[in-house]
Amino acid sequence: MTHTPTPTHLDTLLQHTGIAEFNPKTGAAPVAVPSVRTSTVRFASLAALDEAQAGKARGERVVTYGRVGMDTHAALEQVFCDLEGADRAFLAPSGLAAITLTLLALVNSGDHMLVADCVYGPVRHLDNTVLQRMGIETTYCRATPQALAEQLKPTTRVLYVESPGSLLFEMLDIPALADFAKAHGLILVTDNTWGSGYIYRPLDLGAHVSVVAGTKYVGGHSDLMLGAVMARDPALVRRINDTHYAMGYSISADDAWLALRGVRTLPIRMREHAAHALRICEFLQGRAEVGRIYHPALASDPGHAIWARDCTGSNGMMAVELKLDKPAARRFVDALKLFSIGFSWGGFESLVQSVNTEVLASHGYWRHSDHALVRLHIGLESPDDLMVDLAQALAAARA
Ligand SMILES: *Cc1c(COP(=O)(O)O)cnc(C)c1O
Repeated sequence: MTHTPTPTHLDTLLQHTGIAEFNPKTGAAPVAVPSVRTSTVRFASLAALDEAQAGKARGERVVTYGRVGMDTHAALEQVFCDLEGADRAFLAPSGLAAITLTLLALVNSGDHMLVADCVYGPVRHLDNTVLQRMGIETTYCRATPQALAEQLKPTTRVLYVESPGSLLFEMLDIPALADFAKAHGLILVTDNTWGSGYIYRPLDLGAHVSVVAGTKYVGGHSDLMLGAVMARDPALVRRINDTHYAMGYSISADDAWLALRGVRTLPIRMREHAAHALRICEFLQGRAEVGRIYHPALASDPGHAIWARDCTGSNGMMAVELKLDKPAARRFVDALKLFSIGFSWGGFESLVQSVNTEVLASHGYWRHSDHALVRLHIGLESPDDLMVDLAQALAAARA
């Protein structure tokens, strides 16, 4: 083996992890790991199989069957470990499946879970339909140590949060939440889809488990569904590993390959999304129709100080309060030409979504207002074109 220096910058690491190994006979290799599609694995001898089984029993990443995936999956897991500073990563068929895997690994019947009131909406559906039926109790709460302390129960085991929160991008104080979790023996789980490991690293800030929807910025091209769960603590890794196996999750090697391909450009895409979003914020701040803008990289955002302390960058997401009544706000959204109306985010394209402010009633961070709220994902189009589009749509809304 030749000695290669360990890169210290994530940008470098992301170009060099998960590249294909040299063929020992030819000394040659493709740059990209191919999509290794297989449903099972063959062994040269029973002794080789025995050795693999023994490693599996120790909780190592050993493949004896196709479900967990071979080279392509392993390369992507390594990328997620690099991104999040984790020891192990587990892949799931969607971000939501990664959340389900995490919670089923960590809570038992009779346990209580504290959940930030700003989490991704479908988490409440998981709670209402599956977790409650299994006898798992959940309390939604503003995710500050003071507010959470009032909701603690002797059976509380997990604190599940998302920072910045869905819809309003409320920055949470992860180090303070980690101290709170430690003091009360809770496992702190964070949904880090916003940061995707590149601009925000919750495990470094004290979280025990980080969950990422790779569907968003990791994939980056709006063409795949993927989730990942990352952890360091060996006991937690073991529990997640056991549950992952039990649930039979499997993702296609082609999807793992697409995510590996996408992640190479994560650094440059993320910087562009963030820079474009800031320009759009500045433009919107100058418009009379625009009220508060929710984007933690903006100096006026209440979460800005925490963002500046804990994050190394930002992305293309923002929520914008429009000083318009609901019909006018609908005209605005419908009039946009370069922003598609759609859920999700993190791809190359700009998206707009009208936020149902009734849903926000359960978010303690929301300042109740009669105004409309829209969520924008600023894509990789020229921000100059996006500003022209936004201006014409604001004009159409007033008409
Ligand atoms: C989209 C999203 C998810 C779910 O990811 P899917 O791959 O769509 O299931 C989870 N958390 C957050 C914050 C998201 O934005």
